[in-house]
Amino acid sequence: LRRFFDPLQDVAMFYNSYQSATAALEKLSGVLEERPTVAEPADPVPLPAPRGELRFDGVRFGYTDRTVLPGLDLEIPAGQTVALVGATGAGKSTLARLAARFYDPLEGEVRLDGVPLASLRDSDLRRALVMVTQESFLFTGTIAENIAFGRPGATPSEIEAAARAIGAHEFIAALPEGYDTDVHKRGGRLSAGQRQLVSFARAFLADPAVLILDEATSSLDVPSERLVQHALRTLLADRTALIIAHRLSTVEIADRVLVMEDGEIVEDGSPADLVGGTGRFAGLHRAWADSLV
Ligand code: ATP
Repeated sequence: LRRFFDPLQDVAMFYNSYQSATAALEKLSGVLEERPTVAEPADPVPLPAPRGELRFDGVRFGYTDRTVLPGLDLEIPAGQTVALVGATGAGKSTLARLAARFYDPLEGEVRLDGVPLASLRDSDLRRALVMVTQESFLFTGTIAENIAFGRPGATPSEIEAAARAIGAHEFIAALPEGYDTDVHKRGGRLSAGQRQLVSFARAFLADPAVLILDEATSSLDVPSERLVQHALRTLLADRTALIIAHRLSTVEIADRVLVMEDGEIVEDGSPADLVGGTGRFAGLHRAWADSLV
């Protein structure tokens, strides 16, 4: 049924119809990117306390007859921040979608804490892993409702604590209607940077073991960029993160960079190691640095 949700339906209506946190998180991930239905396991493995270790073993995948990922092996230890970079069409989003079980591999296995994703109840996976994609998506409703979406039933003080942690409280409190500001109404219009902060506060409140982030490409002014980068550091702390990175500043805060080309990982190392090398990342880094001058 998830696929029939109207992405723009009122948040209040959503809460009336779908009370559980699970459903909200499902909707969150389902709306931010259309998620095809994958089968629920007949014999699910429980995951009461996810640590966030992700692992790809011989993963082959294609949307059609054409293979996009020929055979991916990757281990991401719990807590690591991984930046994915590579040319358009290299397979970054595909890797991210497989990690979030938008699709099942044609061959091989994706595992969370050693458990194949296909053996996890969808609700358990949604609690353990949140995907935030592209331009921050805000629902109709107030800023408070949008943040609370990360954890339905959150109290106003929990919502404010998340906003404070992310560095969004200041601008929210300065709005005439504060947390009750309607994000889409005239006068309540938020800047691109502010929208990102609200979506980060929502993810922070959801507090998943694994965060998958398709970084927004919209350019921000320098002060907003600083705020967003600061918020990102807070959001990444104490969880595993896989970021499709579009900003040099984001790559630089990663523990590890993966460069993808034609569905394969062609470079894998710390930003410092790769930038000092002679490979693709070093070239990309130079181009990036030049564009910032
Ligand atoms: P970008 O930076 O442009 O988002 P990417 O590295 O994320 O690129 P993917 O989106 O993973 O690359 O695409 C990898 C390949 O899979 C491309 O050839 C793309 O055309 C194809 N592809 C992606 N999504 C689909 C889809 N839903 N159906 C069919 N083919 C797809």
